Amino acid sequence: MISEKMVSLVQNSSVIRAMFEEGRELANIYGEENVFDFSIGNPSVEPPIEVKEAIIDIITNDSPNLVHGYMNNSGYEDVREVVAKHINNTHGTTFVGENIVMTVGAAGGLNVIFKALLNKDDEVIVFAPYFGEYRNYVSNYDGVLVEISPNTVDFQPNLDEFKKKITIKTKAVIVNTPNNPTGVVYSEETICKLASILEEKQKEFGTSIYLISDEPYRELVYDGVEVPYLTKYYKNTVVGYSYSKSLSLPGERIGYLVLPSEMDDFLNVSAAVNVANRILGYVNAPSLMQRVVARCIDAKVDVEIYNRNREELYNNLTAFGYHCIKPQGAFYLFIEALGGDDFAFANAAKKHNILIVPGTSFGCPGYCRIAYCVDYSKVTGALAGFEKLVKEYQ
Ligand code: PLP
Repeated sequence: MISEKMVSLVQNSSVIRAMFEEGRELANIYGEENVFDFSIGNPSVEPPIEVKEAIIDIITNDSPNLVHGYMNNSGYEDVREVVAKHINNTHGTTFVGENIVMTVGAAGGLNVIFKALLNKDDEVIVFAPYFGEYRNYVSNYDGVLVEISPNTVDFQPNLDEFKKKITIKTKAVIVNTPNNPTGVVYSEETICKLASILEEKQKEFGTSIYLISDEPYRELVYDGVEVPYLTKYYKNTVVGYSYSKSLSLPGERIGYLVLPSEMDDFLNVSAAVNVANRILGYVNAPSLMQRVVARCIDAKVDVEIYNRNREELYNNLTAFGYHCIKPQGAFYLFIEALGGDDFAFANAAKKHNILIVPGTSFGCPGYCRIAYCVDYSKVTGALAGFEKLVKEYQ
């Protein structure tokens, strides 16, 4: 009796569920400490102390009807102002509160912007490898996902193919940098080229193409790498931000969209996003968390803890003979699947109690994702298994 569209979504969901259950089963047989689950991007570093202090202070001292009440569907005005000022101070932009819409995490933000922009059969371009949920977010509004094949040399987007695949129906392009699953940060050179292709194609087709920058990992970067702020390179950019990773608050569902005033049809897009937040049933982003993030605007998790895992894994795996790009951000390592078949390789890893995700889920077969947002002991504990695994393929 469920809708036709939901049938395959439910089936796909059971595959992910099965992986989770398998992890539980392994833990029951071998003991929790002997299972190395690198399958999920759930932050392992605790939220900064400022978050707890802010929650206690707000609950204790602020008016309950303000803290827990309804507000503008786009969020509290004062919170939006604080967020805009913070972005300006960090990136030299000139946003005001009206350019910010508080959202239910990045996922809520992406759904809201697609609801606002997409007509049936509008095309949304993604660069493989990409976060698999984009398929569902685009399909929710009857859009068509158009994949650009991966550039496995350095995992920067394949811009030649991109140029060819833009059509009169292209409504949006998603970029995710630092990237899930590769950890790669798109360079300024890449962004400039991408922006100029979009400008050229907008002119050619007489359309507006929105660049959606999905950046929940912006704060998780290593070795001082710079992540370009995309509104400065292309005016039709919408930024989707989330505190799920930067403050380790994924269950609290808080983030925001940035809609620059200079984007095409700004007033209508803003109005549509505001209504979309309401009618998708979110109504508004969680009220307490809006007030918390405004108080913790300069706080972020201790990235050094992830960095230690990154160094340990990368140095050891490459020494064992695995091939991967050294990630510059996020908390993922994307390794070439030994033997070439990512499903077979993930299954072989499971025999060593190591759980990793086949790259096919990210539109990139032949690779597997290791989420190293785990305790350091899990990283060191898994190394012997990774070493045995490589020997099995020699
Ligand atoms: N986009 C990417 C690339 C992600 O990896 C995730 C979550 O892992 C999301 C969006 C969703 O994030 P949120 O928890 O803020 O909805």
